[in-house]
Amino acid sequence: MQHIFSTGKTLLFVVLIYLISSGVLIGQSQRDKLNFIIIFADDLGYGDLGVYGHPTIRTPNLDRMAMEGQKWTNFYVGASVCTPSRAALLTGRLPVRSGMASNHSRVLFPDSHNGIPASEITLAEQLKQVGYATACIGKWHLGHNPQYLPTNNGFDYYYGIPYSNDMDNVVLAQGGMGYMDFWKSEDRKNTESFNVPLMRNTEIIERPANQHTITGRYTDEAIRFIKENEQEPFFLYLAHSLPHVPLFASEKFEGKSPRGIYGDVVEEIDEGIGRILTTLKETGLDENTIVIFTSDNGPWLIMNEEGGSAGLLREGKGSTWEGGMREPCIFWSPGNISPGIVTELGTTMDLFVTFSNLAGVEVPADRVMDGMDLSPVLLEGESGPRETVFFYRGTDLFAVRMGDFKAHFITQGGYNPQREVHDTPLLYNLAIDPSEKYDVSGQHPDIIEKIREVIRSHEANLVRGPDQLKDRG
Ligand code: MG
Repeated sequence: MQHIFSTGKTLLFVVLIYLISSGVLIGQSQRDKLNFIIIFADDLGYGDLGVYGHPTIRTPNLDRMAMEGQKWTNFYVGASVCTPSRAALLTGRLPVRSGMASNHSRVLFPDSHNGIPASEITLAEQLKQVGYATACIGKWHLGHNPQYLPTNNGFDYYYGIPYSNDMDNVVLAQGGMGYMDFWKSEDRKNTESFNVPLMRNTEIIERPANQHTITGRYTDEAIRFIKENEQEPFFLYLAHSLPHVPLFASEKFEGKSPRGIYGDVVEEIDEGIGRILTTLKETGLDENTIVIFTSDNGPWLIMNEEGGSAGLLREGKGSTWEGGMREPCIFWSPGNISPGIVTELGTTMDLFVTFSNLAGVEVPADRVMDGMDLSPVLLEGESGPRETVFFYRGTDLFAVRMGDFKAHFITQGGYNPQREVHDTPLLYNLAIDPSEKYDVSGQHPDIIEKIREVIRSHEANLVRGPDQLKDRG
């Protein structure tokens, strides 16, 4: 009897140890402590990574991240240009609601007065409520005046440039040269042509920012922040200011990529991501950190060879065609994220809601949220909750995706002033025709009617925030 009892106790002990070591019993508390790293490229297109089909840009670290994690193929941003896209990511809301989209000025400029309203809740503010350390490294572009800077919007630390790397153009300010002539001139290759400030928290520490070394320095700062916060949950928003034109790479990368300077820049970003993943592995943080890589909008096609590629998608930055707003997106967290290629719909706004749920902080109930919880897809490989995607240009709704179908009610090239209104929308089946070549509106009046219903209910509770981008000068 004594013998049987002792065997039973041993067995119970063994089972307990197994359950603990396999994470069954401590799974929830581990999950509560997940860290989040969002790596956000600027103007990198759907076709610009090796793993998304680029034939000459070498991105071994992002490729491996995709193999070990989830590679999403139907992932969208909230707008086709910088400022509203970033507002969407950090608030989980369409920028038309926060006032961070405008028909008067597409983005914020160095002479803009305003920025992200204090009434908006950023993902950083959200995660701070449950004790996360937060850092924003890289390009901000949600307002450069003090009250709008990252450190006044939930981030403990900021290191980066407050707006785009092509702004404060001293050559164009002198006059005498046209905008596109500048981009053909040798002046575009001189980092001194852009009097962009580099800031730490609220102080300018370098002006003009040396853009040759900026990618490597962002990576160094990111690694330092990760190591400093090894013991507590953290949220790192690493928003690279490149490969937005003008393009600059460090000596180690310049002239190395067969794709030219654009390839050099993307390969340097990729190398930095490799260093970050290595840091996570060395510290053991890879077990409870989710890393996401995506981009703020599609390629800047008017820059020709120095702009990126949307691959098989139509058009690019500035447009509501797929090339403007569908982006590469990779989720990586070995042991947490079930690997695979995901064709479910997702948007950057979903990260707010997904991370809030994973971190155990309630999603705001006092406002309309556009984000949805992707965690069933990420953690369990289940199907996703999202059925629709809205494509706004400024504050005008141009197109809506519902399931595989996308209806365009208004179309316009990214940088073409010509706007076309379609009484019967153009309709594309994106599962069959991702390049948006074959209008099937004549065959599917029922689908168009359903999309019109989706728009009616969307507009019924749409409150447009006061325009934050229009006041300048
Ligand atoms: Mg951009």
